[in-house]
Amino acid sequence: MTDQGTNLDPWYDSYADRTAGLSASEVRALFAVASRPEVVSLAGGMPFVSALPREMVMGSIEKVMRDNGPMALQYGSGQGTPALREHIMQIMAMEGIRGSADNVVVTTGSQQALDLVTRLFINPGDVILAESPSYVGALGVFRAYQADVAHVAMDDEGLVPQELRDTISRLRSEGRTIKFLYTIPNFHNPAGVTLSWARRLEILDICRSNGILVLEDNPYGLLAFDKPAPQAMRSVDDEGVIYLGSFSKTLAPGFRVGWALAPHAIREKLILANESATLAPNSFGQFVITEYLDQTDWRGQIDTFRGIYRERRDAMLAALGEYLPTMSWTKPDGGFFVWLTLPDELDSKAMLPRAVKELVAYTPGTAFYADGQGAHNIRLSFCYPTPESIRTGIARLATVINGELDL
Ligand code: PMP
Repeated sequence: MTDQGTNLDPWYDSYADRTAGLSASEVRALFAVASRPEVVSLAGGMPFVSALPREMVMGSIEKVMRDNGPMALQYGSGQGTPALREHIMQIMAMEGIRGSADNVVVTTGSQQALDLVTRLFINPGDVILAESPSYVGALGVFRAYQADVAHVAMDDEGLVPQELRDTISRLRSEGRTIKFLYTIPNFHNPAGVTLSWARRLEILDICRSNGILVLEDNPYGLLAFDKPAPQAMRSVDDEGVIYLGSFSKTLAPGFRVGWALAPHAIREKLILANESATLAPNSFGQFVITEYLDQTDWRGQIDTFRGIYRERRDAMLAALGEYLPTMSWTKPDGGFFVWLTLPDELDSKAMLPRAVKELVAYTPGTAFYADGQGAHNIRLSFCYPTPESIRTGIARLATVINGELDL
């Protein structure tokens, strides 16, 4: 049954059990509100694609149509084109990953890779370990496959290894089946923190010794502001890690092109799942991206994105310091998000309508938990609004928060 599945729906009794978890995400409901121009939206995580020079992309599109039109417009391989998969290997080499392009499967954004991996591994009632909090879009997929999510605590260095050990022991003593650990090691969405190198190794060790697969989701890794992110977990473990990457944040999400680098044993099943879901990933998008990577200064363009997001991060941290000095928040070294913690007496979801009345939107923390936590947290995105708007938005948020606290 969906949110829309009321008794007025003649098909109400026909929906599959797995649709019970389907509901409009809090993020989706917010997109409608946040699109009003007078609202400063610190809610959605939309990349600032206007910073991508149009000629850079148009040149690639024209060349594809001139040189390879019929192939780019045709169905392609369920694994993705060899040329793009080779480029993807070079991109991942920047994070220490070596290996064969034969183990890369191109998908419709990394979101679809999340869906395919979950489809391959999860029976209803299986457990997925995930950070506390975790990415709302992944939680939606996990719910759709009737997985139970066990959140594992984080601190400023990311997932806490001892908490992971304790959670695994508790679940095992309850006879539960744990299938994989889902982690976002770099510039976490929504927490904004980065998993330290020492912890990456420790967590891999814990998962290896417990026979638990790691799903490493890394769409933000190349958007580091201050120093490069630590190397990928996949760089030290080819057999126990499925790595997910994406062109959504380093190029543009409209192409809907992402990928999975799987252990060799898993990759064939992933291709079959990909074929059954979509026949083949977006041919045109793959051809255009290949041309773009061949012909343009795409590394320079990532530097441009980085500079823009760094300035916005700085604006947000400065505004938080100025307007909400008694609260606490994370200080991201990259990516799109800051995680704000409110005093216990405030409920971020209940407060949202009042914030929108003050013309500022955010995502309530509850969106990022499978178990109702997060009432005292807010995810703030700095990727889309200008530094001036961010300042205005945080000032408005402070007015709302201080009003709630009767300051
Ligand atoms: N994982 C994380 C952590 C994300 O933040 C996102 C996008 N918001 C995705 C996966 C999906 O990205 P895409 O499908 O555009 O590659």
